Amino acid sequence: TSRLVVVGASLAGLKAVETARKIGFDGTITLIGAEDHLPYDRPPLSKAFLDADADQQADLAYRDLDGLKELDVELVLGSPATRLDVERQAITADGTCFEYDAAVLATGAQARTLPGTEGMAGVHTLRTLDDARAVRAALDAGARTVVIGAGFIGSEVASGARKRGLDVTVVEALPTPLIRAIGEQMGETCSALHTANGTDLRCGTSVEAIEGGVAVERVRLSDGSVLAADLVVVGVGAVPATAWLEGSGLELDNGIVCDNTLWTGVPGVYAAGDVCRWRNGLFDRSMRLEHWTSASEQGALAVRNALDPDAAKPYSTVPYFWSDWYDTRIQFVGVPDADEIDVVGDVAGGSVVALYRSGDRLVGALALNRRSDIMKYRALILKATPWATALDFAREREMKRQR
Ligand code: FAD
Repeated sequence: TSRLVVVGASLAGLKAVETARKIGFDGTITLIGAEDHLPYDRPPLSKAFLDADADQQADLAYRDLDGLKELDVELVLGSPATRLDVERQAITADGTCFEYDAAVLATGAQARTLPGTEGMAGVHTLRTLDDARAVRAALDAGARTVVIGAGFIGSEVASGARKRGLDVTVVEALPTPLIRAIGEQMGETCSALHTANGTDLRCGTSVEAIEGGVAVERVRLSDGSVLAADLVVVGVGAVPATAWLEGSGLELDNGIVCDNTLWTGVPGVYAAGDVCRWRNGLFDRSMRLEHWTSASEQGALAVRNALDPDAAKPYSTVPYFWSDWYDTRIQFVGVPDADEIDVVGDVAGGSVVALYRSGDRLVGALALNRRSDIMKYRALILKATPWATALDFAREREMKRQR
């Protein structure tokens, strides 16, 4: 193997490049990215980056140009890959054809939009640095803010707007925030974070129309109410960026379908990060995650496997994500499909751990302002810890905390 091509110049793609060099790959590496920016960190975009006192010049790039030079990587930025030819083992971007022996596809996901709002000033999704700059400028101007979708990104934007003292309404079609990620019971607990911080949270309501002229003026809801708005942030999820792979022969099904080693089934081609749907042996199911930690881990493993397929290792993981709402750090490990959820801790004080049981096993854990606990529960889930043991562990920790 002498030519590695990585598509997607963000977290998973950069991690693939870094890992290739770390393990001694001395062939050529080409990193193709659709955005003009050097690979940068996305989680801050909906958090500190939106603060009124945020450093306007803050650099979110993982590495500067010199740091990238050290990796001896050919950067092809601002030019989306448009075609993968699996027969010729070639990827086309900007009219140029890059031949590969090994390829890692890490094109991530794109924010889902609401039809009919394209081009309307004041309506934004939040996926890229450019999106975040536009949202921050609107907040700087004191926008009356309506957030559509009470998921991670929408809720973080609401937190940022409230920190500035702005009026914020969050519209969520489902009964609570984060239902798919943490279930309804704990979603209810997270609802309380919004209301306690002065955000007007409207669950079980959907958006009928976003109205205005050149710029947004109001949002009309299915319950008949109308919200005046200068800024609408649409946070209704993301779709994997696979359009460029249509007709390539890769299996696409809400992501690039891979086996448990992140292999696409096509010689030399592996996938990683938000775009990758793979078989997670630990939970015996196919998954596609949109979390920082797994994107980074997958980037590293996909390239190792791509460069040495005979020694390919499976990627099994206990999913992990975090999100910051107001002054609460929310962390979740595992999967949320539970027969029972047991909450341990100081519920009124907002510092709790919720354990998720499926059958007789611990399968998930949610921590609110319990940063030091969550990785312990991740380890318990990894070890398939019986429910009773996990519950004892949690209660014992709680007793120690209270002492
Ligand atoms: P991406 O970061 O989406 O990068 C994919 C790159 O590929 C993009 O630059 C894209 O432009 C490029 N691309 C797309 N198509 C092509 C093409 N055809 N050719 C070339 N390039 C292409 N996760 C957490 O765990 N905790 C958090 O608190 C958290 N906060 C977040 C906040 C925001 C605002 C966002 C957007 C995400 C957040 N995440 C968080 C998720 C985390 O950032 C993602 O899981 C991670 O960025 C995924 O990395 P990736 O490299 O797979 O994909």
